[in-house]
Order: sequence, then structure tokens, then C-alpha cells
Amino acid sequence: MSGRFPAALLLALPLLGAQQPPVSIEPRPVHPWVAACEDWDDWDKAGPPFKIYGNTWYVGTCGISAILITADDGHVLIDSGTEAGADIVLANIRSLGFDPGDVKLLLNSHEHFDHVGGMAKLQEATGAQIVSSAIGAETMLSGKDHPDDPQFGMHPPMRPVRSALPFYEGEGQWLLHKYRMWPIPTPGHTPGAMSWTWRACDESECRTVVYADSLSAVSSDSYRFIDHAEYLSKFFTSLKRVADARCDLVLTPHPSGSQMRGKLMAGDLSAPGANSCEGYMRSQRGSLFVRLLREDPEWMQKNLPQGVQ
Ligand SMILES: [Zn+2]
Repeated sequence: MSGRFPAALLLALPLLGAQQPPVSIEPRPVHPWVAACEDWDDWDKAGPPFKIYGNTWYVGTCGISAILITADDGHVLIDSGTEAGADIVLANIRSLGFDPGDVKLLLNSHEHFDHVGGMAKLQEATGAQIVSSAIGAETMLSGKDHPDDPQFGMHPPMRPVRSALPFYEGEGQWLLHKYRMWPIPTPGHTPGAMSWTWRACDESECRTVVYADSLSAVSSDSYRFIDHAEYLSKFFTSLKRVADARCDLVLTPHPSGSQMRGKLMAGDLSAPGANSCEGYMRSQRGSLFVRLLREDPEWMQKNLPQGVQ
């Protein structure tokens, strides 16, 4: 022992014994959506709509996302929820003060009934055109599962939509251009899965939002991803596309897929650095690895190095 005081203690000495004013910490007000909704909540449970950033609004239920992007020349709505959930989506749009009749373009994530089961209802209520992937459009027009879907046969039929255009040609492409929405095809969870990106702006600043589709490897009991090499290769490409996307803010069709509730509790959903498409991709890729390992560990050993880029 040198007998000397450590420097930090010397600095603190003048404060010892001094009367410190009480520190009052204002509790952060609970976000209304956090108060109303749980993580992985019910698909058809109503939750309050709220502004995500700029012209981008959350209008979904507690368990299933629906995103409204507003503009003077018409609004864009991504995903409907289930058929029952679509009523909540319409009510949420109205309660924000917007008219569903001003929605001109309907987009979707993937062609499962929990995300597009209410599309026919939304199309009737808004008169908007639907733009999707070819398989997404085909599924919504028929109301039936696509045979290439790993979950084929597991879902109830949906009410068919009146019309739906593919995103990559003709009027579909023109509409995306007009409403400044950029498609990111991300097949894997379903063959027609789509992610979307756009710029959300307030008066002073714009942020790039990515609505990254589900990338979970879920299937019927008889399906093995390793038996579908081409499909699996597209799945890995989709993961890379999401990770590579310019991404200030990531949203997902199941809000808890990108920890929306936790981020709202922590403060600003749109804060730079609070969101990461790469983080989302890594968690989904980890689940895919676990799934493939379960299907066949030997296959994993032989093939994975080519699959992971
Ligand atoms: Zn799904």
C-alpha cells in the first residue's frame, strides 16, 4: 500500500457529506400499443394505430402487421391481416383520420391467410389495385395454397381477390414506380414472399424503411428443404437480399419478429441504430440452419459451405 488515495477518490472527496439535491427521474410514458398488445399476441386482437416515422403508420392488429404509407396522390397499404383482422385495419386507418378510399395500392408480404386473408375485403373497401409476386397474385386470385409452398395443405382457403398484378411488368411495375415502392423478392417462407422498401420522410429527414418478410423455415411434416435444392438456394439468396438492403428501420409481418414491442418500450422505433436488417437476417438464418441440421446433419456438413455466402 502506498498510502495514497486513488485519484478518483480524491476527486470525489469534496462531494462527500455535501447535501445532494434529490434526482427525480420522470417515468417514460408507456406507448399505447405496448399497453394494449403483448409480444406474439393474437392475430385478430385490436391494437391502436400509431406513427412509425414520417408518412409511415402502423395500422395492423396486435399480432399481425399492416403498414400504411400516406401521400397526397394516394396511399399504399401493405398486408391485410386475416379476413377478421382486415376490419381492424380499416378501423385503424379511419381512426388516424385517413380515408380507406384514398388507398390506391395494396401490397403484401407472403401469401398466407394471416397476412392476405383480408385482401379481398380491403380491395372491396378501397377499390385499390393489388400488386404482388406472380405466385402471390395467383394464390390471392384462387384463394388456395400454392403447391410449391412448404406449408402446402396446412391453411384454410381464403376469399379470392378480384384482381392482382405481378410487380415486374406492365401496370404493376408502373404503380410501384408511381408510389415509390421498391420490391425485394424474398422467397423461402413461401415461394411468392415479398419484402418492400421505401423512404419515409418527415419535414427535416428521411429514413429508409424495410418491411422484411417472414424468413422462417416452417413446413408440413412431409416436406424437407434439403429435397428442394433450387428452392433452398433461393431462400439463401433472400436472406442475403435482406441483409444487404439499405435499412434504417426494419419492420416485419409479425411485429415481434423484429422486436417491435421491445423497441417501442425502449423509446424511438425509428432511432438510427435501433434497427438492423442484418440482425434480423442472422436470427432467421440461424433458425434455418437448425432446421437443416435436423433434416440431415450429413447434408449440412457437405452442402452448407456452398449455401452460406
Ligand atoms: Zn406465413
